[in-house]
Amino acid sequence: MPYLRARMNKILAKPIIIAVDGFASCGKSTLAKDLAKALNYIYVDTGAMYRSVTLYCMENKVDIADPKAIDAALQAINIRFERATEDASLRVLLNDRDVTFDIRTDAVNAKVSDVATIGAVREAMVKQQHTYGVDKGLTMDGRDIGTVVFPEAELKLFVTASTDVRTQRRYDEMIAKGMEADFELIKANLLERDRIDSGRAISPLRRAEDAVLIDNSDLSRQQQLEVALRLAELAAKGGSDLSE
Ligand code: C5P
Repeated sequence: MPYLRARMNKILAKPIIIAVDGFASCGKSTLAKDLAKALNYIYVDTGAMYRSVTLYCMENKVDIADPKAIDAALQAINIRFERATEDASLRVLLNDRDVTFDIRTDAVNAKVSDVATIGAVREAMVKQQHTYGVDKGLTMDGRDIGTVVFPEAELKLFVTASTDVRTQRRYDEMIAKGMEADFELIKANLLERDRIDSGRAISPLRRAEDAVLIDNSDLSRQQQLEVALRLAELAAKGGSDLSE
């Protein structure tokens, strides 16, 4: 991908925090990862954190309706990100076990949004997420990054794409990984997660007032990155009204 290479390690006027929020499978982690690569920033996938908590609860039969059981589970959970030595891809470690793939199953997809509605879970995740922003130079993707985790982020992006485009991307991704995929089932899961994520009482998914909307339905990966890099340059120079 020549564009990505040419833009590698672009230096902004100052290090900033880039919050990337949006609906399920809208390409926000691809954008946040590409930005991190181009800017030599840290990338944090907060969805992977909620997914790891969900996997732990499923494997340890934690009753998620019981606040004491949730507190005990949170005490026992340690989530870390690490770069694989072979290919520098990002790995998710749950209590030192690599769960990068195990957190992306249909079973986890079906439960994660319920676990993410629990206040104690969100509190613990947000506390850890704050630690990644201390030195700035961070791209973080999720649902509440621009509204709750880093409301002071210099650049907030709200990414969206049509439901069919999102479903097709997720379908292609699963097929490419050799997983079984059913278009209608994937679509139903995306819509259901969006419904729970947007409707929950604590930190619902919504576009921050000052977030820039990027509809990438008709944008290539490179075009999306190009748009975001231009915005990052402006944000680092202290540009205002980026959302207009
Ligand atoms: O981003 P991803 O689709 O992997 O996130 C999985 C789920 O985790 C979301 O559907 C949502 O329920 C939850 N989540 C959240 N807040 C975040 C990130 C993810 O509630 N910041």
